[in-house]
Amino acid sequence: MREGSLEAPTRHPLDWQNPEFYDQAKVENELGRVFDICHGCRRCVNLCTAFPTLFDLVDASATMEVDGVAKQDYWKVVDQCYLCDMCYMTKCPYVPPHPWNVDFPHLMLRAKAIKFRKGIRLRDRLLSSTDALGKLAAIPVVAQTVNAVNKNAVARAALQSVLGVHKDRELPPYTSERFRSNFAESRSFPVKDGKHAPGKAAIFSTCYVNYNEPGMGHDLLALLEHNEVPYAVVEKEACCGMPKFELGDLEAVDRLKRINIPVLAKYAREGYAILTPVPSCTLMFKQELPLLYPDDARTLEVRDAMFDPFEYFVLRRKDGLLKTDFKHPLGKVSYHIPCHSRVQNMGQKTREMLEAIPGTAVTTVERCAGHDGTWGVKSEYFANSMKIGRPVFRQMAEPHPDYLASDCPIAARHIRQGMGAEAKAAEKAHPLSLLRKAYGI
Ligand code: SF4
Ligand code: SF4
Repeated sequence: MREGSLEAPTRHPLDWQNPEFYDQAKVENELGRVFDICHGCRRCVNLCTAFPTLFDLVDASATMEVDGVAKQDYWKVVDQCYLCDMCYMTKCPYVPPHPWNVDFPHLMLRAKAIKFRKGIRLRDRLLSSTDALGKLAAIPVVAQTVNAVNKNAVARAALQSVLGVHKDRELPPYTSERFRSNFAESRSFPVKDGKHAPGKAAIFSTCYVNYNEPGMGHDLLALLEHNEVPYAVVEKEACCGMPKFELGDLEAVDRLKRINIPVLAKYAREGYAILTPVPSCTLMFKQELPLLYPDDARTLEVRDAMFDPFEYFVLRRKDGLLKTDFKHPLGKVSYHIPCHSRVQNMGQKTREMLEAIPGTAVTTVERCAGHDGTWGVKSEYFANSMKIGRPVFRQMAEPHPDYLASDCPIAARHIRQGMGAEAKAAEKAHPLSLLRKAYGI
């Protein structure tokens, strides 16, 4: 058997509607097989806490091999995985088409799907219901109350003991000025399709932009307008499904997909580029839904029309259709590229765009910050999430930046929290906001 695969990695569809997918004995056998390969390899030891948990279990067992680890302890490894995909993408030489067929994150997903069917905590159900939670928390007065509670130490201690949301985790504020109720309509520009990207855009705003940081969405629209790209905010959207996917709740993912895909597929067919400003949501449409529904034509149409916003801007620039009339230098920017952007396999498009702004020095940090969507919020994982992020906090602080940026707004908040006093002099700003600032619009 050769050591690594020379072919490009491929990903197999997820056979999630087959009852065998949920067969615990079969999954435990597969966990044992893959854990044994990982134990012999150990390349991923410093990526997250899932691998150290596994290797500690092996090293402490009577045989010091995977056969000495009790099967019920396998699930401790599963709990530490937050599906960032980095082991698959950046380390593993045994991913398909290698005959060992190691897809560690998707094996973890399968195990999580089994766990989900056995029942999960109310906290996990709530945190992953980003749309329902957002709708409720963004109601005027409720928004102010939720934001006040989030900042109150006594209330946070109660929230920790009742719901298991760590009291020290800085949570994003909710707004009653929802993006989808307040966005500016597009001006009518002629559609200029380029060789690499369409000349009109459909916006899937995401729960986070709609309820937490609408400014990112407004910035995206302002950038499109400045570059004379007509846009439409899609008339109907539900959560992309990533928080439910990470929990293993694949039936909920299916329900959400049935709402989103018909609407988005219509835009794809009409020749729009579909843009989502949050990398995890983009990834859901680009990768995870197509692997769950490999034969669904509409899902594949949406996949092919989906762009990360900076991927789109860089392609428009390549087509000679992006303005470069930047008015303001940005100075020093510490930029973190989140795992779910890296997994999109598109290169470092945000860095490329920011570096095109005169008077801007970008330090790029390409390492997992350890938050994930909801994982780092939970009381039992908060400390590990801060530990995983430590090298990122340090690298982001090193250049004494003017701005801290990450494509993932949740990672950016986590990084600023982890940097502590070192973040004080720097302004946290999403790359879309930085680009808008540079244009002076
Ligand atoms: S997917 Fe991410 S969190 Fe999960 S085991 Fe791989 S590197 Fe660790
Ligand atoms: S996932 Fe792959 S690279 Fe990582 S420890 Fe396992 S076998 Fe090694």
